Amino acid sequence: MRTADDLCQTLRRIDGRGYKAYRDVRGAFQLGDCELHIDHVQGDPFAAPSRLRARIPMEAAALPVDLFDSRVRRMALGDFLARCVRAAIRRIGGGRRGSGKSGEILVDAGGQEVLERTAIVLDDRFVEVRLQVGLPAGGRRILGREAEDLLCEDVPDIAHAGLTWEKIAHEEARRFVDCIDNQEHLRAQLRERDLVAFVADGSVLPRESGESDRPLRGDDAVPFASPDALRVTLPLAHPVEGADGLRDALTGMGIGRGVSLVAGGGYHGKSTLLRALERGVYPHVPDDGREYVVSDPALVKIRAEDGRRVERADISAFIGDLPRGRDTRAFTSDDASGSTSQAANIVEAVEAGASGLLLDEDTSATNFMVRDARMQALVHKDHEPITPFVERVRELFDVHGVSSVLVMGGCGDYFDVADRVIVLREFQPIEATGEARDIAREHGTARASEASTPFGEVSPRMPQPESFDPSRGRRDVKIAARGVDLISYGSDDIVLRGVEQLVDASQTRAVGNAIHLAVERFMDGHTTLAEVLDRLDACFDEHGLDELDIYHRRGQHPGNFARPRRFEIAAAINRLRSVRMRTA
Ligand code: ADP
Ligand code: MG
Repeated sequence: MRTADDLCQTLRRIDGRGYKAYRDVRGAFQLGDCELHIDHVQGDPFAAPSRLRARIPMEAAALPVDLFDSRVRRMALGDFLARCVRAAIRRIGGGRRGSGKSGEILVDAGGQEVLERTAIVLDDRFVEVRLQVGLPAGGRRILGREAEDLLCEDVPDIAHAGLTWEKIAHEEARRFVDCIDNQEHLRAQLRERDLVAFVADGSVLPRESGESDRPLRGDDAVPFASPDALRVTLPLAHPVEGADGLRDALTGMGIGRGVSLVAGGGYHGKSTLLRALERGVYPHVPDDGREYVVSDPALVKIRAEDGRRVERADISAFIGDLPRGRDTRAFTSDDASGSTSQAANIVEAVEAGASGLLLDEDTSATNFMVRDARMQALVHKDHEPITPFVERVRELFDVHGVSSVLVMGGCGDYFDVADRVIVLREFQPIEATGEARDIAREHGTARASEASTPFGEVSPRMPQPESFDPSRGRRDVKIAARGVDLISYGSDDIVLRGVEQLVDASQTRAVGNAIHLAVERFMDGHTTLAEVLDRLDACFDEHGLDELDIYHRRGQHPGNFARPRRFEIAAAINRLRSVRMRTA
């Protein structure tokens, strides 16, 4: 391996030359105990920054083994170290030193959610951080001195400050890893207890603002307190600090499988609770306020999303014969309506293996949710293709095992079908199942049941690989994420604004590449979408997210992927406008 001297000499030699000469620093250098791998050199100062890895042997990093002795703990420690590196970059470097992206140093650390990421790689032998770095230039000429400071000083300093036990905060690291471990421990107990979610007492669900994902602070935030009838106690893996000393279990509200209704007046916290359950499929950082709100990892948020594309979805359980005799057993649309898009979102979630659905009145199509007695009288069933969700939600659970948590402030027709009713009053949950049943008995809805045929199996669809085209211009594959909500896939855009459980742009980036990986390896026209998703998950479990480097032969080791769930990958495939599916 080349030495620090080699690197410095090369940089001095190319100082002042055209930017392309930076290619000479590609490769590996030993800088003290830090191995620097320059994997990719950007083409010019304004292009995407260069990719490099700084690796420190575990002997030198001396991270305690018990912080990464399981899959969950290693993921948590990796996520934590990425945050330490980000803090070190802010302290040490990352300033501009010339034109374009010159001098920028970036690490892909997370927000409030804790995700499996490629930013940090660690095992018994080493710990490595992957950085994106703008190699310095004045205009388009190499600034060799600046590059020397950046690569020989700042990057190793940042690696030491962010990755070695000597430099990071010990208590904070342990607390972080134990907290994530605890969350996964709680999550693992949900299924055996027939729960879909758990909200710990004391949790702070509201956020600072509509723009911010941080917790609302101060006296304004009403901490969560579980109602007696729904209170459960779940043991922790590691004790946590409570008001009355150390606790080895948490109490909170358990939301059981089946149909759960969240009711209550406007502005009493219903959507905030549901949002916490949506996000609860992921672990959260300590002090998020929702770190002990844990949901079944296969809960899927469902909403209306008019305008989306739908390909051969069997929505016949919800939507019968459409005007002009369109078939809803294989419903295709380039511009789905509110109700048809919501129906498609449900059957697609079930197809992908959802264990439960989360619905909010705020983002649902009204005519999809309910049809009351008066409307039944005015518009005869023969002229209304929709079988509303209220008619199917019971069946979804009883026959298909798919639970629902519904926020419904405006319609009591769901009282008849709910296993439990939670009313929010001034942000506090009250268990009101009995009361709601009594009311349902006293005030019949007079609504007639309209579901005529049973909700059959969701028929599997087989994506056709030739309908995916990632090419653009001269490039065979051009896939990029633009923020959390948009993937450009070849010359198509995949709009993910309605996919609310995608939380990080690095997940979105991973989704884009996962589609390509799936097309290349797992789709043959006969494999069902669900099987393709199984194989992707197995591939990530076995080989990690580096498999997503679809330009892997170039060995770029991208440090900016975060793991998406299968449901969000499915959602992106389902929204790609070119996609064609076959059904048996
Ligand atoms: P709903 O869906 O019942 O109309 P929201 O969940 O949208 O109500 O909440 C209304 C407002 O109250 C939001 O600004 C939200 O941040 C705030 N809020 C929600 N829960 C709490 C809480 N526990 N403490 C303080 N404010 C809260
Ligand atoms: Mg609301």
